[in-house]
Amino acid sequence: MTYDSYSLAGKRAQLVKTLSDKGISKIEVLNAINSIPRHLFIDKSIENHAYIDKALRIEKGQTISQPYTVAFQTELLDLKPNEKVLEVGTGSGYQAAILAKIGANVYTIERHFELHKSAKLLLTELNLKVKTFYGDGFIGLPSFAPFNKIIITAGAPEIPYLLLKQLVVGGIMVVPIDKAGSQEMLRIIKIGGNDFESKSFGKFNFVPMLSGKE
Ligand code: SAH
Repeated sequence: MTYDSYSLAGKRAQLVKTLSDKGISKIEVLNAINSIPRHLFIDKSIENHAYIDKALRIEKGQTISQPYTVAFQTELLDLKPNEKVLEVGTGSGYQAAILAKIGANVYTIERHFELHKSAKLLLTELNLKVKTFYGDGFIGLPSFAPFNKIIITAGAPEIPYLLLKQLVVGGIMVVPIDKAGSQEMLRIIKIGGNDFESKSFGKFNFVPMLSGKE
């Protein structure tokens, strides 16, 4: 069941201000954070932490990313209306909800069946049109490719090359890559069939991207 309250909405508005103070500037990203009830994506027992700018535990030892990280990765994607976006690591479904709220046509993959199932249910309840898949994000979704944008929300040991093939020319991949105990955020632009431009955007912390399904 989905619900909201004045108190939760007030804390959410405060979080938006915090993110704006930290440098998030795209209005559509801030508006999406303001309208998606993050408290629904975590366990009710920790609901009062939903609007603190922190990553939180979800089932299966995974995390819902820190709101700043969600906003930062979303800004790097530079979304245009109706773009087709592949997300690797559905987790709670929160990042997918933000992308859908902005107007992206979202495809998201999760390797944990239970997380996939509960995110699918919640996104449907919230009336967000996200296509959810149970599978291994290293393989991606070749039958639905190409995508305008790809966002990876788990720390990858290296750039997932199979996914680069699933990007349109001119497309963008935002991916945190393992480096010395944390992850370095990369924005990779596909400038030709086999030609890529990569830029680093600093250190973040993610749970690992793992192959196979569970
Ligand atoms: N975007 C999520 C963040 C979840 S944490 C959110 O907003 O809540 C990262 C998620 O990536 C975890 O749920 C983990 O199980 C998943 N994951 C890790 N490796 C994966 C892979 N190879 N394919 C699909 N999902 C993967």
